[in-house]
Amino acid sequence: MRSRDRSIISPVRQWYRRHGRSLPWRGESDPYRIILSEIMLQQTQVSRVLDIYPRFLRRFPSMRSLALARQREVVLAWRGMGYNNRAVRLHALASVLVERGMKIPSDAASLLELPGIGRYTAHAILSSVHGLPVPVVDVNIRRLLSRVLWRMSSTADMKSEAEIWRTAERILPRRGVYDWNQALMDIGATICTGRLPSCSRCPLGGICASREGMTQAARGTRKSEPGLHGVPNRIYRGRIVEALRRKKGGFRTEVLGREIRPEFSRHDVPWLESLLAGLERDGLVRVRRGRTLPGSRVVLA
Ligand code: SF4
Repeated sequence: MRSRDRSIISPVRQWYRRHGRSLPWRGESDPYRIILSEIMLQQTQVSRVLDIYPRFLRRFPSMRSLALARQREVVLAWRGMGYNNRAVRLHALASVLVERGMKIPSDAASLLELPGIGRYTAHAILSSVHGLPVPVVDVNIRRLLSRVLWRMSSTADMKSEAEIWRTAERILPRRGVYDWNQALMDIGATICTGRLPSCSRCPLGGICASREGMTQAARGTRKSEPGLHGVPNRIYRGRIVEALRRKKGGFRTEVLGREIRPEFSRHDVPWLESLLAGLERDGLVRVRRGRTLPGSRVVLA
């Protein structure tokens, strides 16, 4: 480890002892609760997960109860989380793990073969469930390490994911790796934030390469997403699932179109068809097709 890398460890640890967030899944020993929290945290802010995690656990208190539920019930309980295909994958994961007697693999390659598990979640499980000394890299850690170790010229800049994974491996301390990962995540999420880093409060301010001279990125630099009239398709997908949650018998497609977009017209049918095809591929909806799309009926899978 380089001397610069070593100088990061002590301030991060000291900061975490005093300021680390108290979250219900930290220090948890039940693999189900850990895995649930990690899947909920993918692409979702902690504040939202804090609202929904206890409600979901009341509905499905164990991996077995989740595996035995119908997929529709799991998607219903996922309300408010967004990215509903995670609920489908979580349900599939629970079924596989219960079939295998709840044996959670202890190597990344086997974890990556399971539904809904990417590199971040695999490493988070290795660290949290098995206590193994592996790094995790989420967007907060990627941003933080990019800024501390390289001179970033704008708040939008970050090093590549591959580079940050290599860096996270290199700077990993020998002991207390679980807390180390949580500490980096907390500093990235609460201090070294995307648009307005609070450098004056930062434990790494004294050694950070980007503290001086990083300009604030102009608004609107995010990649534009596919959508309709300025609203991303991701939002419409969420609205479709939300509408179907409310109505067990589903909707005729034209009616569904108006549910998610009041100005829906026949010109929008091909667009709606492509959204429904994507949701069908993700296992979230079923389309009972009539001769034409407007005559079809859509229900939650
Ligand atoms: S000093 Fe500022 S830019 Fe550097 S890590 Fe801390 S918050 Fe981020």
